[in-house]
Amino acid sequence: MDLKSILILLFLWLIVVAAVLLVFVYPRYRRKKVDTTPFPAPWLQTLRRSLPIYKTMWPDQQRELRQLIKRFVDSKEFVGCAGQEINDEIRVTIAAHACLLLLNRPSHEYQDLRSVLVYPSTFKVQHDQHDEIGLVTAGEHFLIGESWSNGKVILAWDSVQQSVQNFADGHNVVLHEFAHQLDHETGNTNGAPLLYNKGAYGDWSRIFSEEFRHLQHASAAHQQTLIDAYGASNPAEFFAVVTETFYERPHELATRHGELFEELQAYYRVDPREWQRAPKP
Ligand SMILES: [Zn+2]
Repeated sequence: MDLKSILILLFLWLIVVAAVLLVFVYPRYRRKKVDTTPFPAPWLQTLRRSLPIYKTMWPDQQRELRQLIKRFVDSKEFVGCAGQEINDEIRVTIAAHACLLLLNRPSHEYQDLRSVLVYPSTFKVQHDQHDEIGLVTAGEHFLIGESWSNGKVILAWDSVQQSVQNFADGHNVVLHEFAHQLDHETGNTNGAPLLYNKGAYGDWSRIFSEEFRHLQHASAAHQQTLIDAYGASNPAEFFAVVTETFYERPHELATRHGELFEELQAYYRVDPREWQRAPKP
């Protein structure tokens, strides 16, 4: 073998070693580093302020949530849009609400998600939109949040702050958009996320279909409902909307939609009633 061939082989070998280090070794090293870094004190203040139920969680849940937040902030890129500046307040607030959905679950930690885009306020998009009675309107729309299957979530910061200020009103744009991300783990955003037990899809489908139809009828009749009428748009929106209700108004959801609550409790593997007092009747 001549010197040129040896150099080519050496070069190829170096490329293979570099690829192995980059793909397998570095992510593990980085994850370990993140896991062993203490949760910064200013982040803890933000977490307590932005997620009121954090104070009432069990210590092991708090520990797990802090770990998930560190991983989320480390692995996702936050991009400010339309002049919005990104700071740790924004990173930790969004991460806290997004990671609440991962607590106590064997999850992929939004592995397909790469970027969180943050606008100061509502942002304009150009595409078709379905309303709660199934009407489709084309053209420009102003949104407070959007979840894409290509690795992006878009949020309006003022709407995130409203969600933070009132955690018991059943509306939370971060929980909503990240529920869509979980829904997409199967490859389809259709209101049926990845269930641990394949046999569970039968009950899930029956209960969710019934509840979805009830909401559509109630919405068409302009009745007041606990689950926001926007959930009647389609099954994917229904899953995102009931996720908001499950975390923010769990007592009422359990009382008025018992089977639906149980399905969500089995999926999310937490009981948010433990973190909130029941509202006065
Ligand atoms: Zn949605």
